[in-house]
Amino acid sequence: MTTSKDKELIRKLALLNAINYNGKAQFQPVLGKLLTEKPDLKARVREIAPIVAEIVEAVNKLSLEEQESEVKAKWPEALVKERVETEKRLPPLPNVEKYKQVVTRFSPNPDCVLHLGSARAIILCYEYAKMYNGSFYLRFEDTDPKLKRPQLSFYDLIREDLEWLGCRWDAEFIQSDRLPIYYEHAEKLVAEGNAYVCTCKPSDFRKTVLATQACPCRDLPANEQLSRWRKLLDGTYREGEAVVRIKTDLDHPNPAVREWPALRIIDTERYPHPRVGSKYRVWPLYNFACGIDDHMIGITHIIRGKEHLTNQKRQEYMYRHFGWEYPEAIHYGRMKITGATLSKSKIVQGMRDGVFMGWDDPRLATFITLRKRGITPEAIRRLIIDVGPKPVDVVLSWENLYAYNRKIIDPTANRYFFVHNPKKIVVKNVSQTVTAKVPLHPDNQEKGFRQFQVEPENKEASLWISSHDMNIVKKGKTVRLMGLFNVQIENVAKGIVEAVYHSESHEEARKLGAQLIHWIPADTGIPCEVVMPDATIAKGIAEDGCRELKANAIVQFERFGFVRVESVDLKLKVYYAHR
Ligand SMILES: [Zn+2]
Repeated sequence: MTTSKDKELIRKLALLNAINYNGKAQFQPVLGKLLTEKPDLKARVREIAPIVAEIVEAVNKLSLEEQESEVKAKWPEALVKERVETEKRLPPLPNVEKYKQVVTRFSPNPDCVLHLGSARAIILCYEYAKMYNGSFYLRFEDTDPKLKRPQLSFYDLIREDLEWLGCRWDAEFIQSDRLPIYYEHAEKLVAEGNAYVCTCKPSDFRKTVLATQACPCRDLPANEQLSRWRKLLDGTYREGEAVVRIKTDLDHPNPAVREWPALRIIDTERYPHPRVGSKYRVWPLYNFACGIDDHMIGITHIIRGKEHLTNQKRQEYMYRHFGWEYPEAIHYGRMKITGATLSKSKIVQGMRDGVFMGWDDPRLATFITLRKRGITPEAIRRLIIDVGPKPVDVVLSWENLYAYNRKIIDPTANRYFFVHNPKKIVVKNVSQTVTAKVPLHPDNQEKGFRQFQVEPENKEASLWISSHDMNIVKKGKTVRLMGLFNVQIENVAKGIVEAVYHSESHEEARKLGAQLIHWIPADTGIPCEVVMPDATIAKGIAEDGCRELKANAIVQFERFGFVRVESVDLKLKVYYAHR
C-alpha cells in the first residue's frame, strides 16, 4: 500500500527535479532520491516504481511556472534550497563524452600540510568527478627524498584534511611504490631512442641546449644508451653524474621545454626516503612520474593551475613517444588571498625558523588552522565553486571567505556574552533581584534562553562590562545592559564605572537612543581565552552558560565575533573565526 503521504513526497521530489532540469523531471533520479529519503520503501520498489513513473509524467505535463508555484505554495523552503544548489553548478568539462567515466586526481607532495591554496585543486577535481559520476583519486607525489623531502606524518595529515573537506577519494596511489613502473617506461624510451642518459656537466648542457644543439650523449647508439641506463641503476654513476633526458624538439621556442630531465640519481644512503629508505637511488622527476601516472591510472581530466602549462608542453613529447593521448587539461588562473601566506615554501621556512608555533598557528591558512578557527569546509567549498576553474587570476580577501562562513554558521550559532578585559560597573538603586532572559539566538527563540540573576547588595548591583565599551559609558549617558535594564552613568573613576538604575524597558532605551552593551554579573562566569588570528590572546570572562559548551561548538560572542570552542575545563579556550 502506498500512502497518500508517500505520494505527496514523490510529487515533491518530482517537482523539484523538474524545476532543476528546465521543467522535465526524470524517473531515475526521482526514484533514487525517494529511496534515499525513505529507505524502507526499497523492499517495495516494484510496487513503487510505476507510481513514481506516473507522478513524474503528470508533473512533466505542467509548465515550469506551474511547477514552481506548486512548490512555492506547499514547500517554500525546499525551493530555496534547490535554487541554491543549481546556482552552484560548475561549467561543464570538455569532451566528457569521449571517456567511459571522468577521472580526476589531486596529487600533493607530502612534504607539508595542505592549506587554502590547495583548496581549488582539491575541490574542483572532487566536485567534477562527482558531477559526472566519475572517480576522484588521491596520488602522493613523493619522489624527491632530498630537496622536497616527504615526511610520514604528512601522508596522514593530508588524508585527514581531505576527509574534513568532505572529499573522499576513490583510490589512492603513492609514487614511491611505483618506481618499477617508471623504470620500465624509462628503459623503453631509452631503448627506442626517445630518451637518453646524459652525463654532461649541467653548465655544459645548458650551453648546448640554449644554442639549440644536441649534447654529445643524445645521438649515441642504442646499445651504448642501454649500457648507460644499466650503469645508472647499478650505482656506477653517482649523484649528479647522469640524468635521463626526454628527447624534444631542440629548437622548441621555450628553452625550459627542451630535452627535459626525467630521472636522476639521489644518494639515498645520505637522504633515505621515509617510506622506502635506500631501496632506490634513481628517482623520477615531477613531469616524468606525473605524466606516466596520469596515463597509467586513467586520468581523463587534469584540473590544475596555469603554472603547469609548460609542464603539459614537456609531457606531450613523452606522450607522443609512447603513442598515448594526453588527457584533457584545464588550467585555472592564480588565486591570491590578501593577507594569507599561501606559499608552501614560505610556510615551511617559517616553521623552520620558529616564526610559527605549529601547523595550526592561527596566522596560517592551513586547513588545520581553519578548522580550529571554525571555518567550515562548506564555506571553503562554496567559495571555490563560485570562483570556478576560470583562467583569469582572482584576488580574494579573508573577508570573502568569512562572508561564506558567516552565512553558514550564523543561523545556528548560539549567542553568549564574553566580556573582554573586564571592568566593573556598579549600578545603584536596584531595589530587587532581577532575572534577565536573553535568547540563545535572536532569530530562533525556539532554541531557548540564557538566564542571569542580578542580586543587588544594599541596592547596588555589580556587573562586568568590556573595557572596549569604556568609550560608550561616559558620564551622563544612558546605556542599556542587553536584556537587563537601562542605566545612567554617573561617574567613571579608577576603572570603576558608577551608574544609577534608570528604567527597565527596551522601548525606553530606544526612545533615549541608548546604546546596547553586553555584561555579566560580577562573581559569575568562566575565565576565557580567545586565540586571535594574529596569534595574540584576548582574555576575559564568558558567561556561566559557556561552561556547558562542548569542544568544536561554534558560537557567537555577542558584539565580539564567532568563535570555535577548543576546550572547556576550569577555563574556556576558543579560537576566533571572524566578526
Ligand atoms: Zn649530455
